[in-house]
Amino acid sequence: TPSAATASPAAKIRIDGLSKKYGTFTALEPTTLDVQRGEFLTLLGPSGSGKTTLLQMVSGLTPATSGRLSIDGENWTDRPVHERGMGLVFQHYALFPHMTVEENVAFPLKMRNQPADQIRTAVAETLEKVQLDKFAHRFPRELSGGQQQRVALARCFVFRPEIILMDEPLGALDKALRETMQLEIRRLHREFGTTLIYVTHDQEEALVMSDRICVMNHAKVEQLGTPSQIYSDPETIFAATFIGHSNLLEGTLAGTDDHGNTLIRTAAGTFAGLMGARDADAGTHALIVRPERVSLGAATGPGMNELRATLRDVVYIGSDNRLLLDLPDGTEFTLRLDPGAAIGTEIGQEITVHWPIAAGRVVS
Ligand code: ATP
Repeated sequence: TPSAATASPAAKIRIDGLSKKYGTFTALEPTTLDVQRGEFLTLLGPSGSGKTTLLQMVSGLTPATSGRLSIDGENWTDRPVHERGMGLVFQHYALFPHMTVEENVAFPLKMRNQPADQIRTAVAETLEKVQLDKFAHRFPRELSGGQQQRVALARCFVFRPEIILMDEPLGALDKALRETMQLEIRRLHREFGTTLIYVTHDQEEALVMSDRICVMNHAKVEQLGTPSQIYSDPETIFAATFIGHSNLLEGTLAGTDDHGNTLIRTAAGTFAGLMGARDADAGTHALIVRPERVSLGAATGPGMNELRATLRDVVYIGSDNRLLLDLPDGTEFTLRLDPGAAIGTEIGQEITVHWPIAAGRVVS
């Protein structure tokens, strides 16, 4: 018998043009993406963006309108839910109230007709992993919300599914508990080596937990990448503003400079930046600059953008000072400084700041 610590034979998921329509309403445009073996992939987006719809089509709970799902090269598009053997964890943990913690966790193994001694060993090992071994004989109503969610996780991991799908599993917990559980799920994922798709609308949660993030908006994938790729190379205005704080200088494209950088003409001046990976020529463009890439004072050399604006406020947030600037057209511009750094400008006065051209992305 493999011990519960043995990695599951994780699966590779191929989502190929899956889409969902309810009547004429499109809940998900045709979507194509691969989830690698053992990967932690997060679907991140605002309410109604289609995250749950996509997850439900992978689970088989919702039939797809078009497209194909394959697992390890096999067509699973029409395979019934109970034949998929996926682990599912949702926001409402749905524990059996009349069963103890131990019985809840044993349930999926009993359903699979495993021998009693194997069940006992697997349940004990899994409860230990989620630090609930002391609670084995309690009933769900005798547990806190966090403990109940750990039972739900144990009940999912105990049968070592190759694929686990989680939809906002921490949504009902308070912030402190959520942060603890994020690390716990990450640890369990790593220990069991499962392929995991996780749905959340919380960008911090996505950054902390994921190998890759699939940013969704309006029934479409906006960007798919590692947390650091999405943070430093956002491909759309939406991705840049949904993940982390971004300065957004909106304007129109104005050609390129001698070094091939893209120029953008804005109300605060013309600036240079790198064209984002998704080079769209229609609609509004914006130069995206993260607040921590901006420094005080005039540009110190070539390859820099410089901006003059009014200092509106200095906000102390513990780890750093946040300087809020007002641009002539009313746009807000933010930079972050060490709490000890001298600012040398009074509130209401003009201030000059600069940032590397290479730190900016022009997106639409
Ligand atoms: P949330 O974070 O609020 O759960 P989500 O990104 O998971 O949002 P979905 O649940 O996938 O969003 O829903 C996508 C869109 O499809 C929404 O506009 C929703 O109202 C719609 N939708 C979902 N289920 C149905 C249904 N059974 N009938 C009609 N429309 C539906």
